Amino acid sequence: MEFAQRLVALVETGRRQSTYKLATMMAIMDVCVENQPRPDGTLAIPVQELAHRVVAYYWPQVRPFAEYGPLRQSKSAPPVILKLVGDARELLLDRGVRTPEAAREAEDPDYLRMVRSVELILAKYPLTHLQTPTRQLAHLRNDFIYDASAFHNNVTRRELEQHGPLVLRPGVAEALRDFAPLLKPMIEMVWVGDVVACNRQALEHDDIAGFLFGSERSHLLSLRNPLRELQDGRCFYCDRMLPAEVHIDHVLPWSKVPIDGVANLVLVDAACNLDKSAMLPVRVHVDRAVTRPAGDLSSIADLTGLPVLKTRTVNAARGIYGTLPPGVPLWRAPKQYAPHGNLS
Ligand SMILES: [Zn+2]
Repeated sequence: MEFAQRLVALVETGRRQSTYKLATMMAIMDVCVENQPRPDGTLAIPVQELAHRVVAYYWPQVRPFAEYGPLRQSKSAPPVILKLVGDARELLLDRGVRTPEAAREAEDPDYLRMVRSVELILAKYPLTHLQTPTRQLAHLRNDFIYDASAFHNNVTRRELEQHGPLVLRPGVAEALRDFAPLLKPMIEMVWVGDVVACNRQALEHDDIAGFLFGSERSHLLSLRNPLRELQDGRCFYCDRMLPAEVHIDHVLPWSKVPIDGVANLVLVDAACNLDKSAMLPVRVHVDRAVTRPAGDLSSIADLTGLPVLKTRTVNAARGIYGTLPPGVPLWRAPKQYAPHGNLS
């Protein structure tokens, strides 16, 4: 609890030039949800892994926001990472690669080059300063999340390689995983506030939150036909025949873990989609989704240009359900819920 309070204080009092620190914290938390700490309670995270995830956060955010165009995420010069992501996004979309995860799975050289640049920027700025609330309070810096002594504003790639991964202090990974359901929505809110403050137009918070943190639905439309075929025209959850109007659902809700992989996506009717909303489903739905035949999932991935991401989905499910307190209601079907821990 003390750890969470310190982290909240850091986010609330931190002066930010840009949203880099927030993106980095979100990325660290997602890694903690999807990975088990070592027996001594530490968790090693390659800086490049954080770069992949920071890129994934910014990927939808660099597209134009309605008539306003691209949103600013800094009060001074536009952040370099957003420019790198924007350029790579344009290049890859032209080639039919829709998501950063798809580019990563395909080991796209342009994507990987961009991620390596982002990796170095992360080491120079957000990772160096993440645990320092403000320049004036630099003496209060407290490396309670990880030892940041290897990072500095002029860190070179060579130094970074010698240093190896970032190592979360004992107990931090577990705390971040446990508090992620509370901390992530809070950081998203702070992020939205920062973006609103950086853009002069009177933007509506609600619109911005959905735009910045929602899944990019247009990328998922191509899944409709192949999933309809795979599911024999039935809703994944209730098994009723699907109507013409269908919804793509993230089995593990996007708000909990942003996984746009075929292993985490199913075709459902409106009744199930609207009732499930952002709730976690009973575990059996997740198990059914990830155990669909690997050949089917990968041919859908080939057809749609989306990655499968089965391992990430399985690991995220383990992290989420493994730490969920018993009794938390899970979604089974419209108006049907089951408490976690009871044959879910
Ligand atoms: Zn249904």
